Amino acid sequence: MTQMNQAMIEKYRSSFLKEVETNVEEGHWVKMCMQCGVCSGSCPLGPHWEHPPQEIFMMIRANKRDEVLKSSSMWFCTSCYNCIARCPRGLPITHIMHGLASYSKKLGLAPKSQPTESFGQIFWNSIASNGRVNELKIGLALQFKDGFGQGVKNAMAQKDLGMAMMKTKRMNPMEFFGGHTCKDKSGIARMLKKAQEVEDQHIANYGAGK
Ligand code: SF4
Ligand code: SF4
Repeated sequence: MTQMNQAMIEKYRSSFLKEVETNVEEGHWVKMCMQCGVCSGSCPLGPHWEHPPQEIFMMIRANKRDEVLKSSSMWFCTSCYNCIARCPRGLPITHIMHGLASYSKKLGLAPKSQPTESFGQIFWNSIASNGRVNELKIGLALQFKDGFGQGVKNAMAQKDLGMAMMKTKRMNPMEFFGGHTCKDKSGIARMLKKAQEVEDQHIANYGAGK
């Protein structure tokens, strides 16, 4: 268990709702849900989620911390905004789903090898270290994320797509040896560090949603 997760369990022992309100983007909206189910019925992927949005909000209020934060459900949100457009209470459901996913990752509770989580981490690593996305390396990292053998199988299955991207100059094999970077990589690192400090301070002062 990560130190941060342990600290949060101790701090919010009596109320997971309070923890969400303080630490999850737009989490202070959860208490406004009236459990009508419109969001779950409108979500194109809802039937495939372990817990659709309305159920997640109910579980937060029922103190089901582990079940919510370890769930893969919110990682499936595609930001289609159907739920937000239809919620009679105007909850920013999409943002809460992404907020919950991001918070579970911060605590080390996100499901391992969940594809969206893996893609997000690989994308972030690329852009945070270079200031630019290296598309070839991102593609390779995704194909090989489950080991070398599986990576070779994945690459063979998608070789036609890869060749077509190279022919149309959508992917450059030379990116493997470095690729595009921004001019001031250390400046990017300083900017991201400062942004994290500002965000941490804001959460400490006002909570995540204000
Ligand atoms: S549509 Fe809005 S009020 Fe209804 S269950 Fe979903 S979040 Fe709650
Ligand atoms: S924004 Fe996310 S939660 Fe809302 S309907 Fe679309 S996929 Fe479902």
